[in-house]
Order: sequence, then C-alpha cells, then structure tokens
Amino acid sequence: MLHLSTTAEQRLVDRLGRVHSNLRISVTDRCNIRCFYCMPEEVVFRPRGEILTFEEIERFVRVAATLGVKKLRLTGGEPLVRKDLPGLVKRLAAIPGIEDLALTTNGLLLAEQAEALKKAGLHRVNVSLDTLSEDTFQQISRRSGLQQVLDGIFAAQQAGFENLRLNAIAIRGLTENEIVPLAKFANRHALQLRFIEFMPLDADGNWKQEDTLTGAVIRQLLEDEFGPLQLADRPDPSQPALDYRFANGSGGIGFINPVSEPFCESCNRLRLTAEGQIRNCLFSITEWDARKVLRGNGSDDSLRQLIRDCVAAKKPAHGIGEEDFEKPARAMYEIGG
Ligand code: SAM
Ligand code: SF4
Repeated sequence: MLHLSTTAEQRLVDRLGRVHSNLRISVTDRCNIRCFYCMPEEVVFRPRGEILTFEEIERFVRVAATLGVKKLRLTGGEPLVRKDLPGLVKRLAAIPGIEDLALTTNGLLLAEQAEALKKAGLHRVNVSLDTLSEDTFQQISRRSGLQQVLDGIFAAQQAGFENLRLNAIAIRGLTENEIVPLAKFANRHALQLRFIEFMPLDADGNWKQEDTLTGAVIRQLLEDEFGPLQLADRPDPSQPALDYRFANGSGGIGFINPVSEPFCESCNRLRLTAEGQIRNCLFSITEWDARKVLRGNGSDDSLRQLIRDCVAAKKPAHGIGEEDFEKPARAMYEIGG
C-alpha cells in the first residue's frame, strides 16, 4: 500500500478540531429493493448523465486523499447495481493514501460479485440484514429475496472477506422479534452484527422519535438471553459503534446509536452524493457542488477549496430531537447511508 504524507495544515480540520479522514461515496441512487425506512414505494431516479462517472469519482478521491482522506466506503442506493463496481474499486484501491476501502450493500447481488470485488482490492464488506424471515423481509423491502442476501453473505466469506459485518435497522415494533435470531445467526457464522437506530431519513417522512428502538433496549434484551456482553476493544476512537463480544469468541454485537447517544463530537466523515454534492453530515441542509468543478474544467486547487469550505461549515451536532431540527429534504438513498 502506498502512503501519502499529509501535513497538519493540509488536513481537513473543522472548527471543533474534528479531523476528517473518512469519505462515504454514493455511487448510485438506484436500488433493487424499496426499504420503507429509506425509499418511497414509487421512485424516480436521477438521469444517468447527472451521476458522477468513475473518472470523476477517482479524481475527487485523488484530491481528497491529498487532504488526508484515508478511508472510503462505497454506498448508495445499492452500490452493486452500478455497472462494473469492481472497476471502480480497482481505481480507488490504487490511489496513494487510501488505506481502507469498504462497501455497504443489501447483499442481493453479492454472491455474483464477491470474488471480483475481492480481486479488485476491496477490503471490507457490510451487508444490511434486518430479518431472517422472508415474510418480514418482504414487509420491509417491498420485494422478495432474503435467501439471495444470505447466499451473498456466505459467498463474501468464501471470497475471503473476514470479519464481515451485518447492519440491522432498529425500529420499535419491527426489530424486537429479530434481535435474538439475528444475534444467534451472527454468533453461529462469526459475523459482527450491528444495530443502527432508525433516523429521520425515510423518504415517506413517517419517522417519529418513539419509532427508534434504542441500543440500550436492544442490549438489555440480548443480555436477558445471552448473559452480560463483554465490551470489545475499540481500535478506532472515531468509530460510531459500541462493540461487544460473545462469550465464545465467535462474532460480535454492536450498537450505532445516533438518535439516543449522538457521536457527533467525534465524527470524521464527509459524504459525496451520487451526483457529486459534498455533504458534511447526513443531516446537512447545505451541499457543495463538486460536479460543477469536475465538469467545469475546475482545478484540483478549486476542488480542494470546495472540500475545505464544506468541512469549515460543519455544525457541532445533527440536532435530532431539538426544537429547531430541520429534516433534510433528501432521503437516505439519495444521500448515501
Ligand atoms: N443499499 C445498501 C444497503 O442497504 O446496505 C447501501 C445503502 S443503505 C442507504 C445503507 C444503510 O443505511 C443500510 O444499512 C440501511 O439499513 C441504513 N438506513 C437506511 N435508511 C435508514 C434510516 N432511515 N435510519 C437508519 N438507517 C437507515
Ligand atoms: Fe435500497 Fe439500501 Fe435504501 Fe434498502 S436501505 S432501499 S437496500 S438503498
């Protein structure tokens, strides 16, 4: 792996001293399912011409890497519906300074792509899995395909992706019955399961504070079943998850609690939307137009300045639950989760 040294002045430090080294790239707003907590049932996707090309994404990342961005995660929409994703992975993995390259996927197309992704240089995979029941899968995603997702998980393990992570949404009235089966599944197959609290980013705008099933409640339910969970080591203090181990050492359980325990003070993330807007937060209202620079013959320096402006404007916290909280106009699939 090539290393790039970034001087202290070059790094992306905001007003609160948060150093931004982590970039989430949405490669498409399209998806092959329609999870109710993310997408509307009927959806009009952006015209393809608006979506950044691989060349444009690669250039953006090359420039961001000179500012200390080291970790990338590809997301969407569903990233595996983008044609030749392994081709993009290969380009990004070769960029000097990029130390970690990960993917978040719903897993439906993973069985057919896992090997090519591994060969192309992808380091890590997270698969979203909210249930082990096909009926519930259909209720959530308005489509069928649970077995295909499970096949994708096992194919990724076969292809050599170790410490595969599962992301499960935590929604009151939906997730309670899934917790123990998912935990047993994770334990049996040496997977890291993480529950993510439902956030006000559903396209239908139905989120209510009381719909979020908190990590604390889930943890209690798990401890009632399995006994006390042991806190795992935390190698990266900026990681949002609190991870625990199973007593037998196989797999683990974690909690991402953005609603009940916001972790904004250690947030080091930036986002690039599929059509090339830079965001400093899932909940930001403002965006910085990188596509305009990329397609308007803008220099690398002007791109660097745009990224700096975006970081400089980052708010201290998302403000969910506060009186003046403003829900972003765009839903999760349009931002990149
Ligand atoms: N399609 C891929 C997938 O589902 O893994 C990648 C994109 S998806 C937007 C990324 C993650 O965001 C998924 O794990 C999904 O469960 C989560 N997500 C979507 N809407 C959410 C919401 N309103 N609150 C919390 N997490 C959400
Ligand atoms: Fe698609 Fe992922 Fe959103 Fe579900 S959460 S609709 S899989 S983008």
